[in-house]
Amino acid sequence: MKVTLMHGAGGEVMGELLQTLTKFKHNNAGGIGLEALDDGAVIPLNGTNLVFTTDSHVVRPIFFPGGDIGRIAICGTINDLAMMGGRPVALSCGMIIEEGFEIGDLARIVASMDEALGEADANLVTGDTKVMEKGALDGIVINTAGIGIAKTIVRDNGLIPGDVIIVSGTLGDHGIAIMAHREGFDLGAQIKSDVAPLWGMMEHVFDAGSIHAMKDPTRGGFASAINEMARKSEVSVRIREEHIPIRKNVRSAAAMLGIDPLEVANEGKVVMGVPPSSVDAILAVLHHHKYGKDAAAVGVVTKGSHVIMETAVGGERFIEPPMGDPVPRVC
Ligand code: MG
Repeated sequence: MKVTLMHGAGGEVMGELLQTLTKFKHNNAGGIGLEALDDGAVIPLNGTNLVFTTDSHVVRPIFFPGGDIGRIAICGTINDLAMMGGRPVALSCGMIIEEGFEIGDLARIVASMDEALGEADANLVTGDTKVMEKGALDGIVINTAGIGIAKTIVRDNGLIPGDVIIVSGTLGDHGIAIMAHREGFDLGAQIKSDVAPLWGMMEHVFDAGSIHAMKDPTRGGFASAINEMARKSEVSVRIREEHIPIRKNVRSAAAMLGIDPLEVANEGKVVMGVPPSSVDAILAVLHHHKYGKDAAAVGVVTKGSHVIMETAVGGERFIEPPMGDPVPRVC
């Protein structure tokens, strides 16, 4: 059997590949390890919780509406740290560059990375660069890893019946922006990626209330993230379709492309399950922040083992975990 693009698309098919790639006997340094397949690992060290995560970035095109591969490379790692409750401290960056790549484009990418680091109050402290011959890869690949410190660890498996599901803003923006840009769609107002570092917002959310479970809905989108959270927590989730925030132009482009906006990547959003007593305070904090203006409570956690959508017309259907993100090389 050989690897296909679907093996990298963040859905059920990638899960099969991960069965091979996560067969490490040495997989846990004392806290949360590889076996958890959470957003990052936790290593207890002298009374603090060190959070550690890594991510590689292959998005095409490398410059797109709302961002670029450099901004994604920083935000992807900062957000995975934040999803574990970790304040980002330091990042590494490994760049693999194809012979012939424009130095001017590299300078733009680095400037964009630096801006995202500044927003999250984090620093890039070590790195590595390799160049490969023309044709050996497609332009550039960027890997980042990061360490953070968590006061309180948040997992993706802590949903309990009664929790309210909150999304921090409109869904589908990044994936549909990439796809619409590739297809050359003109829908009046341009669809932009939501790529953003979320620590600055999340640190206020942590102070406002308690969070039982949390995940960033990247590849495979909201559909993948909410199914993973429900499965790991052994609960059902009921989502109200009319409460899900989706931009009008994202909805139109998604319909034209035949893509479900709930199955494509977001790069600046959070899905969280919070107890009813924390809902109002957390929503108030989110609405105050530029990356959380469109936050909404979209559903509730119940006993069971499915994710169910109560549709706008009064019906019900399952939100299935996608086989893979329908947009290839989205991040
Ligand atoms: Mg993640």
